[in-house]
Amino acid sequence: MLMRQSSKKEYARYLLDRLHQEIDRPITVMEVCGTHTVAIAKSGLRDLLPEKMHLLSGPGCPVCVTDDHDLDVVMALARQDGLILATFGDMMRVPGTESSLLQEKSRGADVRVVYSPSDALQLAKENSDKQVIFLGVGFETTTPVVAAALDQAVQMELENLSVFSLHKVVPPIMRVLLDDPEVKIDAFLNPGHVCTILGTEPFRFIAEEYGKPCVVTGFEAADILEALLLIVRQYRNESPAVDIQYKRAVRPEGNPVAVGFIEKYFTPIQARWRGIGEVPESGLELREEYVQYDARKRFPITVKPGKCRKGCACGEVLKGLKLPYECPLFGKVCTPVKPVGPCMVSTEGSCAAYYRYGRQK
Ligand code: SF4
Repeated sequence: MLMRQSSKKEYARYLLDRLHQEIDRPITVMEVCGTHTVAIAKSGLRDLLPEKMHLLSGPGCPVCVTDDHDLDVVMALARQDGLILATFGDMMRVPGTESSLLQEKSRGADVRVVYSPSDALQLAKENSDKQVIFLGVGFETTTPVVAAALDQAVQMELENLSVFSLHKVVPPIMRVLLDDPEVKIDAFLNPGHVCTILGTEPFRFIAEEYGKPCVVTGFEAADILEALLLIVRQYRNESPAVDIQYKRAVRPEGNPVAVGFIEKYFTPIQARWRGIGEVPESGLELREEYVQYDARKRFPITVKPGKCRKGCACGEVLKGLKLPYECPLFGKVCTPVKPVGPCMVSTEGSCAAYYRYGRQK
């Protein structure tokens, strides 16, 4: 059992000390959560860790992994008359192949920023002469909230609201990374928020099939250090498992009510991840019985695939093959003010985190 110290700082120091003492071989650990990416960068943890420990950021930011061609389709839709496209603000500046929602809005498309799916519901109620499309982007943490708004729309028999689902699910992308011979990962820091919903069962394959340690982690520096220590111990003892460090929020069974909501409205499909490609069962579409709320089916539109942005290494950054500053555009052509790729747009993107909090090892 780990000893709790009186203050968080002291406890973090104690954990760092233990890490330096207990690590006995090189280990590469990937976090698959944008909030962890920011927490690690902000706390400067990378520079304090033992030389043998290497932290990588993975595809943990839902905005960053949204495929550029999918966004091109959304933008083509936003240009149609009689439609309002409602989106979270962080999607506004994410580039497709040619444009962004912000640019489309400046050219006249009716794109509105909302703070929750309920705001989109409200927009639909207030604009009964228009079709309101909510752009659903997010992992398992966001999807239940969208499902809850859909539930309300169904109960109200609202006919002018639909969802363009670009929702993604996390476990399949972790399998893709583990199967990729180029990607070298020894262990995972599991996403705390996603595991609050899913629990640990969907991640057991990582330990059982691939023999890799993984620990569900909270978001304070001490949480991350504690999780890294648990990983080092699993690795050293060759006893891979899915441990929960973030016990104050995560239960092994997750949140069955939230999962029930997701399953009621959505079903898994193959989805495109930016820079990674098609991944089976990694996206969510609306179930057949709710087809009238599925914007893709209700407003089918075809857009020719465009060319990826030249020089942007987002795909390699998202797979942990490159650190953000290894992209030739980082900090020169690509900055948060003038982002080239989504990893620099989103506040939870790796490139934005490295830019804001400085280069770390
Ligand atoms: Fe893409 Fe910019 Fe990051 Fe390079 S620095 S990978 S261009 S977001």
